[in-house]
Amino acid sequence: MEDIKTKVLIIGSGPAGYTAGIYASRANLSPVLLQGPQPGGQLTQTTEIENFPGYPNGIQGPAMMQELRDQAERFGTTIINRLITKVDFSKRPFVCHDDRGTRYEADTVIIATGASARYLGLDDEVKYNGLGVSACATCDGFFYRNRTVAVVGGGDTACEEALYLSTLAKKVYMIVRKDYLRASKVMKERVEQRENIEVLFRCNTVGLYGEGGVEGAHIVRNLGEDNEEKFDLPLDGFFLAIGHDPNTGVFKDAIELDKEGYIVTKAPTTATSVDGVFAAGDCADPIYRQAITSAGTGCRAAMDAERFLMEHE
Ligand code: NDP
Repeated sequence: MEDIKTKVLIIGSGPAGYTAGIYASRANLSPVLLQGPQPGGQLTQTTEIENFPGYPNGIQGPAMMQELRDQAERFGTTIINRLITKVDFSKRPFVCHDDRGTRYEADTVIIATGASARYLGLDDEVKYNGLGVSACATCDGFFYRNRTVAVVGGGDTACEEALYLSTLAKKVYMIVRKDYLRASKVMKERVEQRENIEVLFRCNTVGLYGEGGVEGAHIVRNLGEDNEEKFDLPLDGFFLAIGHDPNTGVFKDAIELDKEGYIVTKAPTTATSVDGVFAAGDCADPIYRQAITSAGTGCRAAMDAERFLMEHE
């Protein structure tokens, strides 16, 4: 592909990226949006979205992302299926390169690269990746119909995944390191009421075992305490739901990140440490991380970019 020049380059394609595309294209800025490795972002891996205003009966994540994409394209956003691998924000126009060597020259950049699922860091997670280990119940739950699975984590995501899996699997364990679930009240209640979910509190996974695929997990209860207890939990599938890391590695030398890798923005704007580069969505949000808040910051980033372009023309 030839070099591409644009007034607004949007990197990332979740609710933040697409919303930035809708607003920037309606402002006649003809934005270019790079979809990245997971077009549509994390919501393409979720089931029903029930808390996005305007969908009283809920909507499937992939369907909602398709609608946002269609809306961005309708007003003139150019959408490209590539991944940005190199950026130079040292001077304007900014220069970015994608995974196939195309060079993008942009007057402003909106980063909306989202976040990715976190793993425990066990060698066995790598060993059994795709062989019983997954970070996406919606993607892989189907394979575990009438089987026994575990979900690690005690937050809303873990509860959501466990509830989803409980409709397919025979038995679902939740492996929770504390003695309580940190999830919201409504999610906790749903988990408690589901007969085939059993929560294992104060438990940590220290390894997985199995011939050619996961057959179980090595668990330690009360790790490091006098009453520490080790046991093996027979399983067919092992799902991670322990939070996310921002996808900001490619920007680490180009803009300011906080200690967890989230992009630092100048509230209440979406401005980053580099004038003309803006950030929206989960890559800059360690707190709210909702589709609606991501879409909101996508809108703000597009408006910030538009204002920046007007001031610098
Ligand atoms: P959270 O950070 O809320 O929860 C992560 C969970 O994983 C915690 O129980 C945590 O344990 C556990 N955990 C983290 N690291 C480890 C580890 N190394 N070993 C074992 N357990 C670990 O992340 P979520 O992804 O659940 O949620 C993120 C945000 O998104 C939250 O604000 C949540 O409310 C929101 N959300 C909302 C939904 C909805 O409204 N429908 C659905 C999904 C998410 P500990 O408690 O001990 O730290």
